[in-house]
This record gives sequence, C-alpha cells and structure tokens, in this order.
Amino acid sequence: MVQLYIPLNFMGMLYREIKQALTDIEDMFNILEQDPEIEDTADAKPLQVDNAVVRFEDIHFAYIKERPILRGISFEIPAGKTVAIVGPSGAGKSTLSRLLFRFYEPQHGRILIDGQNISEVQQGSLRRAIGMVPQDTVLFNDTIGYNIRYGRWDASEQEIEEAARLAQIDGFINSLPEKFNTPVGERGLKLSGGEKQRVAIARTILKSPPILVLDEATSALDSFTEKEIQDALDRVSRDRTTLVIAHRLSTVVGADEIIVLDKGIIVERGSHNELLAESGVYASMWNRQREADEARETLKRAEEEE
Ligand code: ATP
Repeated sequence: MVQLYIPLNFMGMLYREIKQALTDIEDMFNILEQDPEIEDTADAKPLQVDNAVVRFEDIHFAYIKERPILRGISFEIPAGKTVAIVGPSGAGKSTLSRLLFRFYEPQHGRILIDGQNISEVQQGSLRRAIGMVPQDTVLFNDTIGYNIRYGRWDASEQEIEEAARLAQIDGFINSLPEKFNTPVGERGLKLSGGEKQRVAIARTILKSPPILVLDEATSALDSFTEKEIQDALDRVSRDRTTLVIAHRLSTVVGADEIIVLDKGIIVERGSHNELLAESGVYASMWNRQREADEARETLKRAEEEE
C-alpha cells in the first residue's frame, strides 16, 4: 500500500508542478488532455464555439482556503475583442488564465464561453478551443519546422511557411544553415526568448483557435524585438477573442479593455487613454514602467558608446 502510495503521490506532485509552471500549456494539453484532478461530469458535452464570447461571473478563488486570491471578479471579453489584465506581481493575473483552462475550479462564480459553463463541458474540447502563447516556450529537440508544425500536425509545408512569415520568424529561419530542417532545442540551436516566442506565435497561427491567451513575457526584450513580437501578436489576435495576461504593459495599449487587478479585486478598468486620464493605479504603473524603460535605453546607449 505504502509502495503504491508513494509513486502516486509523486505523480500528483509532479502533475501539480507542471500545472503550476505553465511553461508550455499546449504541450500539456496534448499529453494530459484529460486532467486527472478535475473530472468531467457524466453528461459533459463538447464545447460549441460560435462567437467565442468569454465571460467571468463573480469569480472567487483560493488555492488554499485561508488565502483568497480572487474575490468577485466579473468581466466579459466580447467576440473578437481583447481584454488585458494588469496588476502587481501576485495579484492573481495568471490564476485567471488557469481557471479559464479549467486547471482549477472556482469556489464561487462561473466562467462561460458562448453561454456554456466551462465546468460542464468536456475538458478536451475546451482546451482545443483555446490557444496559448506562453511566456516561455519549451522547444522540442527536433527541427524548427517540427516545432511549428506542432500547432497542427496535418499542416502543409506551405502553411508552415506562411505561419512563420506571419509570426515574423521567416527571416531568421531562412538564415539558418538547414532552414526549416535546422535542429533546435537543448541539443540543437538555442533560440533567444524573442525567437522562441515567435515560434509559439507561429504554432498558434497554425492551430487557429477561436480564443487566445497571451501570457506576456516577464523579461524585458530589446525594443526592436518587442516591436516585432507586438506586431506578430497583433496579427494573431486580430478578430480573435483574446485575454492578455500582462506582466509588463507593452501589450496592453491597444486592448479594448484593460482590467487592473490588485489583491484579487478589480480596482480600475477602461481603455489605455481612459485609465491614463484617471491618474490612478494604472497611470502610475505606466509612468514607472516608462521611466524604467528610458533608464534601460540610456544605459544601453552609454554602453554602446564606450
Ligand atoms: P506575476 O505577475 O508575478 O506572474 P500574477 O498576478 O500572475 O503574478 P498569480 O500567478 O495568479 O499572480 O498568483 C497569485 C497568487 O497566488 C500569488 O500570491 C501566488 O503565490 C499564489 N499561488 C499561485 N499558485 C499557487 C498554488 N498552486 N498554491 C498556492 N498559492 C498559489
């Protein structure tokens, strides 16, 4: 009994760690399409996505009972629109995306996609409807072409090339010795953070999900790469219902609505210009980040001049 318990317990731990890390959510979907901790109800039906309207209704959630993380969160992402979540580290931003993927169930409230409660639909169908561009993409030890094709196995060579072009990684790939056949990953060519993120964008373009979650990179990219990635993200999220989890503020300016989360509640909401005019939490976060960015650029210029 003890012997059986330990490996099971270990598997549970391992699973929770993978779930927590969310390094490459889409890998997990395929490996663990059925979440062992969260069970489908006997009468669960496949999710039917029509307009892809996503609605969080009065969500309360705690990982551990004594410590509430989300306290009454309500917002809607209308069909094809983008809502960005910002707020200090630990505010509960990524928790919202974990709940949308149903890695956890809220203790109160519900999340609806086109009117269907996600806890009542088949998990596999839910996860197939959502594409994720994670902060840090894990690459397989295979070719860069394989890593893009992972978004949709039956994609043609032409579709892969087109996805690479739209993700603005085609120039980089064409400069590689074996182009799409160049091995990447731990045992191949190591890609930079920005390049890996563009591979993730190309995968998502191939998958073409109706709902998208963009988990913006925490680490600062140089402003040229950031602009390129932003363009690629704009392209992939156009006309797709999109939730942006913004650890920095660079991806939120064009969002239809920005939600400022602090200690599990919504403290401000509105467009970028509306929130700047309010001179509240968002405006001060924005000013602080601008100062930090400027300081970084000045430092970089000084280093280049030396
Ligand atoms: P950041 O911008 O730093 O990524 P965030 O706003 O995305 O932060 P979350 O990852 O949603 O924050 O975490 C919210 C809170 O929940 C944090 O205080 C975190 O420590 C806590 N938390 C996250 N996962 C767990 C877990 N599995 N068990 C207990 N607490 C957790």
